[in-house]
Amino acid sequence: VHVSSEGIRGLLLDVEGTTTPVSFVYDTLFPYARARLAEFVGEGSADPDLGLVRREYDLDQGPGKPGWEGGEREGALTYLRFLMATDRKSTALKEVQGRIWKEGYRRGELRGQVYPDVPPLLERCRAQGVLAAIFSSGSVLAQELLFSSTGAGDLRPFLRAYFDTRTGPKTDPRSYERIGAALGVLCPQLLFASDTPAELEAARGAGLRVVHCVRSGGAGSSFPVIHSFDGILA
Ligand SMILES: [Mg+2]
Repeated sequence: VHVSSEGIRGLLLDVEGTTTPVSFVYDTLFPYARARLAEFVGEGSADPDLGLVRREYDLDQGPGKPGWEGGEREGALTYLRFLMATDRKSTALKEVQGRIWKEGYRRGELRGQVYPDVPPLLERCRAQGVLAAIFSSGSVLAQELLFSSTGAGDLRPFLRAYFDTRTGPKTDPRSYERIGAALGVLCPQLLFASDTPAELEAARGAGLRVVHCVRSGGAGSSFPVIHSFDGILA
């Protein structure tokens, strides 16, 4: 579909599968953090994340939890590797990964990836006075690092705000209402792009306009489909 800027005052973008290949997360970011875990998880009280990991471990009632053996650092490393292997949504894991990625970007070993149609889309937003913002389950820190270091340069000047799951789940309409309020844009004037139908459903439930971003394949959709951003605000 083609969406003009008529009646649109804000554009809200999902990251994985929408602005950025899903493979960037699974084939680049996750392995990078996994390989450097031991380097970054320190000894005793010097590392505040150790306490966070231990608290989560003690509260974890889930199946398959490994034993906590060989001291605080070894116990934490074993548990963090378990959380990574089982792709668990863990605050402690996200904190540690965030720290590792931040250093990776600083060293220039990591560069953010966006599809080539993303920078021109953000330029059209700016030219047309449409606010652009991000809503991703990756932390706000991870989002800012990604968009600061893309092959097209630092895209942060084009982005008004970043939202992560602290705003609420991406499948809850209230999250989108909060984002509209935070941006000062009425929900019907906010366009949300994502590759995930459950997120589109929630956004539509809050009154947003939505487009289903399908980067590969051609499965049917009950939402307006785009294969690139070329027809958005164009
Ligand atoms: Mg996505």
